[in-house]
Amino acid sequence: MLSESPALFWFRRDLRIDDNTALFSALKNHSRVFCIFVFDRNILDTLPNKTDRRVEFIWHSIKELKNTLLAQGSDLLVVHGHPECLIANIAQTLKVSHVYTNHDYEPSAISRDNTILKQLTELNIGLKTYKDQVIFEKKEILTQSGGVFSVFTPYKNAWLKQLKLSDLQKYETLSVSPHLTRPKENEKIALRQTLGHDPTQLPSLGSMGFNPSNLLDLKIIPGASGATTLFEDFLKRIDHYKNKRDFPAIKGVSYLSMHMRFGTISVRKVAQHAWSMYQNQHSQGALSWLNELIWRDFYFQILYNHPYVVEKAFKPEYNHIEWNTSETAHDLFQVWCAGQTGYPLVDAAMRQLNHTGWMHNRLRMVVASFLIKDLGINWQWGEKYFADHLNDFDLSANNGGWQWAASSGCDAQPYFRIFNPINQSEKFDSEGTFIKRYCPELSKLNKKWIHSPWLAPAIELQVADVKLGLNYPNPCIDHAIARTQTLNRYAIVKKQKNRIKT
Ligand code: FAD
Repeated sequence: MLSESPALFWFRRDLRIDDNTALFSALKNHSRVFCIFVFDRNILDTLPNKTDRRVEFIWHSIKELKNTLLAQGSDLLVVHGHPECLIANIAQTLKVSHVYTNHDYEPSAISRDNTILKQLTELNIGLKTYKDQVIFEKKEILTQSGGVFSVFTPYKNAWLKQLKLSDLQKYETLSVSPHLTRPKENEKIALRQTLGHDPTQLPSLGSMGFNPSNLLDLKIIPGASGATTLFEDFLKRIDHYKNKRDFPAIKGVSYLSMHMRFGTISVRKVAQHAWSMYQNQHSQGALSWLNELIWRDFYFQILYNHPYVVEKAFKPEYNHIEWNTSETAHDLFQVWCAGQTGYPLVDAAMRQLNHTGWMHNRLRMVVASFLIKDLGINWQWGEKYFADHLNDFDLSANNGGWQWAASSGCDAQPYFRIFNPINQSEKFDSEGTFIKRYCPELSKLNKKWIHSPWLAPAIELQVADVKLGLNYPNPCIDHAIARTQTLNRYAIVKKQKNRIKT
């Protein structure tokens, strides 16, 4: 039955109206539903850089959402502050009976939501939360003995076995959208009194202390409209995903990660397309892409069920590795961050990250492996750098990716598998096309030498105008030596573990 009392829907990592689980439920159950977004100062105030593409992406996406809601006779309230100080107050001011929102699986978000639940309960207001970001969450996929999976392949098999069409079903939010509402004049006045400002006015980026970035120059289109454009383009290419996904110089992947991160597109929608293309047209590309979405679910459930991974290695013995923390390590770390290691593929990838905020998955694995297993630096330094710079930064996927590369994670690569940065370069960027895009100083170098310029004969370097140590760095380490050191470093903790066992 439709409740006469209004509800408040709180947007977070789900910046879209269409196919939004909690919003759909609010609209189904209440005759009036207000919508709100909080620019969360707990997060924004800790960002190291006040020119941040992610904040700008959110801002544009919020603006688009607000315009869409205004066009429907509704509105989006937008505030800048701490949700623990705002949500319950606003809910009380608007006299709502319930607040609706979608689940978040990060430890800090769970703790924030628990605080808000307590506040709302004291005010006799309900909090209703829903699964929206993933297909399967929390403990929905379990082993036969009822445990949480820590190895991907059996998790994936169980995920596929458990999948029903209803798991991918769209929530037709638009069919109930007439219940979306905006504050009446008296409610607006009450809100202004509570907050000290008018939440129907969108705060500018500048007023929140942020500057515009190069987001729009990079042709990144925020909002649900940007996500749809990108996804439609990808659907034309999805059949080739399996064969092309590993080559950074070609357009083989979806580039949807920033939209997946902020929920400007529904995971059910994209998974449903991939699933039906596999079922109906046997598209191996679609199946391979679905596999990545399952990795995404996998890491979300790892984070939710093992929140200690935020601070520590999934496999505890790897907490005892003696990383290189000398002054040299700090210098090497700076060189890695700046894309000046002397290993062209690593450098091109890091420069891509610094310039655009995105990096190809193959290259994320290559640079992570290089930092950990060539430079001997703690994976957490790299994890933090990625967290600060990736447009699509997501705690679960980033932590999962870094722990995979460090061999400390669930289902990680074995510690003795160490990427050779030259072989990776020859295999996945054989012509050096990607390298040349971000390392223009190597653009005239023959493809035979572009993967390891220091091995090139002097005449080749001269012809290509490459002056090692001057316009392009000498390699910062010797891979063969670093490899041996890493094997020793890992072998020590392995031995210690075995000693404890026996
Ligand atoms: P596609 O290949 O088109 O994949 C489609 C979607 O599947 C992605 O948008 C993403 O949502 C999901 N996905 C793909 N691969 C993975 C994966 N391995 N784990 C979890 N989800 C995946 N991904 C992030 O979204 N945020 C991160 O912070 C992040 N950090 C990473 C750090 C490291 C060290 C590594 C090795 C990987 C990381 N990834 C991260 C996973 C992956 O590299 C990116 O999701 C992918 O490159 C994004 O590009 P895309 O959207 O074109 O991907």
